[in-house]
Amino acid sequence: MSEPTCCTCGHTWRTGQHGGHSCAQVLQSRLEATEAENGRLKADRDRANGYANQAALELDGLRQQLAERDQLRAEVEAMRAQRDKMAQILRDLVPGCRWRFMRPRIDQALQEVDGGN
Ligand SMILES: [Zn+2]
Repeated sequence: MSEPTCCTCGHTWRTGQHGGHSCAQVLQSRLEATEAENGRLKADRDRANGYANQAALELDGLRQQLAERDQLRAEVEAMRAQRDKMAQILRDLVPGCRWRFMRPRIDQALQEVDGGN
């Protein structure tokens, strides 16, 4: 069985009980509750936006770090290739070296450049 309801403000009361009320007062307290809820939702939204912005910043930072890492990797690769080339030049020098005094120096250089490989 449904309770009696005021069709202006929606206030309900038990059947048989006094239903007198102030529509304006009921509507006012509802408005205040709605405004309070609105404020909470806005705060939640602002917090969520803050997190999203922070996440976006962190993502940008990570992207930049990844780009720098790739750049460093490319530089290391280029240096390795150059080192390998120099090591090969030194290796090619050793057998054909006519100046015996140069051999220990070439061997030493090879050791330093190539790590003995
Ligand atoms: Zn009412």
